[in-house]
Amino acid sequence: MKNSIKRDGSPESAWQHGLPSVTTTRPSKINETVYDCLVVGGGITGLSSALLLRNAGKNVILAEANTIGFGTTGGTSAHINNFADTTYKEAESAFGKEGASLFARAIAEGQELIKTNTATHQIDCDYEVKTAIVYAEDKEQVDQLTSLFAGLATVGIPARFTDTIPVSIPFKKAISIANQAQFHPLKYLRGLLKAYMAAGGNIVEHTRIAKVSTENENHIAEANQMTIRAKNIIYATHMPPNINAMNLVCAPYRSYVLGVKLQSGEYPDDLIYDLEEPYHYFRTHTVAGEKLLFAGGNDHKTGHEDPEKQIADLEKYLRKHFYISSVKYKWSSQYYIPVDGFPYIGQLPFTAKGIYCATGFNGNGMMLGSVAAKILSDLIVSGENIYKDLFDPCRIKPVDSFKEFVSENADVAYHFIADRFNIHETDSLKRIEPGTGKLIKVEGKKIAAYRDEKGVMHALNPTCTHMGCIVNWNQEELSWDCPCHGARFDIDGKVLTGPATIDLSQIQE
Ligand SMILES: Cc1cc2nc3c(=O)[nH]c(=O)nc-3n(C[C@H](O)[C@H](O)[C@H](O)COP(=O)(O)OP(=O)(O)OC[C@H]3O[C@@H](n4cnc5c(N)ncnc54)[C@H](O)[C@@H]3O)c2cc1C
Repeated sequence: MKNSIKRDGSPESAWQHGLPSVTTTRPSKINETVYDCLVVGGGITGLSSALLLRNAGKNVILAEANTIGFGTTGGTSAHINNFADTTYKEAESAFGKEGASLFARAIAEGQELIKTNTATHQIDCDYEVKTAIVYAEDKEQVDQLTSLFAGLATVGIPARFTDTIPVSIPFKKAISIANQAQFHPLKYLRGLLKAYMAAGGNIVEHTRIAKVSTENENHIAEANQMTIRAKNIIYATHMPPNINAMNLVCAPYRSYVLGVKLQSGEYPDDLIYDLEEPYHYFRTHTVAGEKLLFAGGNDHKTGHEDPEKQIADLEKYLRKHFYISSVKYKWSSQYYIPVDGFPYIGQLPFTAKGIYCATGFNGNGMMLGSVAAKILSDLIVSGENIYKDLFDPCRIKPVDSFKEFVSENADVAYHFIADRFNIHETDSLKRIEPGTGKLIKVEGKKIAAYRDEKGVMHALNPTCTHMGCIVNWNQEELSWDCPCHGARFDIDGKVLTGPATIDLSQIQE
């Protein structure tokens, strides 16, 4: 039997369920080849980029630290919208009317690429066109909704006010936006992978790129006992690895998803969003022959809240509004909020020419990761793309309306200091229950300790190998999460999520 697709967290996401991984074959002669492009990361951004470049005749190799779909693409909720978390009004106030219109065009292009790939490569990924409903529950939210509606009109996206919403939640006003879509992200990814391999694309899984240097215009990427040479590198790693400029302009967030069966057996057909803070959304998807309602939200900065409480709160919220017969799936995953609201796609600042990144997608990486693939493949093939300047990672544009981010960075500074000098936990190893983890202090030293179900202790140095903050325990995903830049590690210290590339060191009992 084939292995199922793995993810960077402990609970299975609905997308992983029953989906076997595709067998990939490591190419020969890696050491003797200079590739046109090394794509690092096998999520939607990496595979879409690799396929476009391969179809443009480039010799491409994709390196994935784990297996395809291991990152956020395996834990997303897979809405394909033409509106984003950064509203068109916010986009207009930060980048002008033209910037907002280009942003809308980029998102539409991302939407279109998913649709075209699905049709061209005959990918059976449950792709369905849907209508989105956004509703306001109080006066403040009505103002927000009115602004959202005005922003959509500014960029030419048709929307209309509606008197009904498909869930039994009291609301004051709602709008509906046609021509949205949803799909199964891992079925889509597998389809891209098969098309890429059929086109002669190279792939190496279980290969974490840890270091890159440049010699005579060729980049030399080093992984575990492997060197890959390439004229261009795309970091499609969600966050580029190691210490880099993107750490300063993107904040890591966790977001939660529940997949539940409803007692009524009646499921809403639309994509439904509220405007609460933190927000919630609902959509229906049939997984393994079973119709389920997916609900998400309760986002927070990575390593800052208690994940167990966050998901319990989400379930409580859901039970308040729906009669649930069973909870089938619960998981969380990570995304990155950009400081000025727009993603960073293009040349990675302070690195040699031809090293690209694609990050800061907020909760819109299905479309933005897809359009990033188009932008980066164009930059590599011809040097030009219409969105090159708009999403240029070298732009520095901190904007007043994104005040939250300023406090994010203040918060990072706090952790640098507090983690080193304040001891929050003084529990003893013995008090750690099986299946749980805790930061403890033993003989003056902090230890990240996890006791497994068999009672075996897994003890780690809790200092994040990225920039030295102290990691926090995540009971939901059984991981150690860094509150500064979002690096995550498993119970044995192995890197789950970058930007760290080095594992936490183990401490023998
Ligand atoms: C809960 C949740 C719900 C969401 N819902 C939506 C939605 O409905 N619609 C939407 O548009 N967006 C949504 N998003 C955002 C979207 O899922 C992400 O932006 C998108 O999946 C990012 O894709 P990616 O390919 O860039 O990164 P990833 O999918 O994270 O892939 C990056 C890959 O790079 C690999 N990697 C990392 N470092 C290295 C290295 N050094 N060497 C080799 N490989 C490496 C990782 O293992 C990983 O597989 C959601 C996000 C979350 C968290």
